[in-house]
Amino acid sequence: MYLFIHLLAFKVVVYSVCQHAVLPSHIDAHLKDKVRHNVVKEQRERVIQEIERVDGLVRERNELNQLVFLPASNPPILELQEPRKDRMKCQF
Ligand SMILES: [Zn+2]
Repeated sequence: MYLFIHLLAFKVVVYSVCQHAVLPSHIDAHLKDKVRHNVVKEQRERVIQEIERVDGLVRERNELNQLVFLPASNPPILELQEPRKDRMKCQF
């Protein structure tokens, strides 16, 4: 199952398997990645169609500039993986 969680407050979806927020325009590349997820094309297309129906999402990278960051004192967002400094930066 390819479950995405909709974080309404941030207008993003988070892939529950890796706990990364993924822009709708990057879902295909993210799920296709052979090392991480390797989801077959038919299933990727089904997920993309479902997420296209969700209104109000941030869809493109340039829209992220308008993202409002919460104060660092706020509790962690449990749906997201904790930030790491020992990994590669997401390229998508
Ligand atoms: Zn992932």
